Amino acid sequence: MTEVLMIPGPIEISEAVQRAYSIAPPSHLAPHVIEAFGRSLERMREVWCASPDAQPFVIAGSGTLAMEMAAANVVDPGEHVLVVNTGYFSDRMAEMLRRRGAVLTEVSADLGDTPGEEEITAALESADFKAVFATHVDTSTGVRVDAEMISRLATAHDALSVFDGVCATAGEAFEMQAWGADIYLTGSQKALGLPAGLALLVASKDAMAAREELDSPPPMSIDFHQWLPIMNAYEGRGKSYFATPATTMILALDVALGEILDCTHGDATGIAARIAQHEHVASAMRQTWAALGLELLPASGEIAANTLSAIRYPEGVGAELVGEISERGVIVAGGLHPELKTEYFRVGHMGDVITRRDALIKTVEAVEGALIAVGVEGISPGTAKAAFEAALAN
Ligand SMILES: *Cc1c(COP(=O)(O)O)cnc(C)c1O
Repeated sequence: MTEVLMIPGPIEISEAVQRAYSIAPPSHLAPHVIEAFGRSLERMREVWCASPDAQPFVIAGSGTLAMEMAAANVVDPGEHVLVVNTGYFSDRMAEMLRRRGAVLTEVSADLGDTPGEEEITAALESADFKAVFATHVDTSTGVRVDAEMISRLATAHDALSVFDGVCATAGEAFEMQAWGADIYLTGSQKALGLPAGLALLVASKDAMAAREELDSPPPMSIDFHQWLPIMNAYEGRGKSYFATPATTMILALDVALGEILDCTHGDATGIAARIAQHEHVASAMRQTWAALGLELLPASGEIAANTLSAIRYPEGVGAELVGEISERGVIVAGGLHPELKTEYFRVGHMGDVITRRDALIKTVEAVEGALIAVGVEGISPGTAKAAFEAALAN
């Protein structure tokens, strides 16, 4: 087996998805591209668990561009916004909102933890907020917020709710319609299972209305208003042009979303099955880290992400562990949050790879081998594989 890419994006890609984008680029007006684009938009509503009147957008760009698109389309300069801050990517969202001219209030917790319902409620009552922004899974800390609770609180306080799902969408439960969330955004290279290159989001009817009511329009290239006729044309299987779409990536997106919707796990099917698979593998990963004597950065298992593990280095060990793991054919990531970068590492477990038992076992064995190699005592070889397989069998 070649190297396995187990960082929190980009990730391992399925062979069918690779085949879909490994071609000479077709025209954006080619009938099969139009079909793939239109079907992708329909499939996004299913993967996002969004209502039929919610509007999907796909444009060429990064996850960061999708964040910018969300911020610029629902907030006018001078309006109040609340940021539920759980780390590095929440800080990024806060800075974007500041640049948009919004008036910010932030509610946060110790690193590795998330603010609770009472604190968020109290913050929401401190001003008249246009919108609440939160990072579903903050990739720097491996912490997942309770997006359902935040959506419901925002609705109760007459504010929109916007979630950065870049490290979560299609890997963590998110029910856009049932929870009343207004924007859920992502980038293609995380749990959706594509290379980097697409910025994706779904906006509720209220979020679309908020755009129309803005006094200061967003930059043209990320304007909902500009892109809406294009998305409508593709969904109606018609030709259109505003800015050239990444045509090979659109073909691959259609395949990737199709794979997600084809999943089965126990009695579950579709996106529910895909989420259940992520939960199952993540739980087995966490049990394996515990068997190896490792501790997680997230304050509790309940708020630990299912798409990645953020793991503290054992006493006396540092970034050399990441190098030792890569020597064993598995690429993991170091720390990201500036305040504790040198204290932890991250293992991504999202997308197609969660169905590849050999790759997952190779990953836990590489971590075990690296720990022994750097001198961590008390680990008997075979512990990781045994713990992982036992947990997976449950
Ligand atoms: C990766 C990530 C981003 C940024 O995505 P890019 O494609 O690198 O711009 C934003 N938010 C979260 C939570 C992420 O994990």
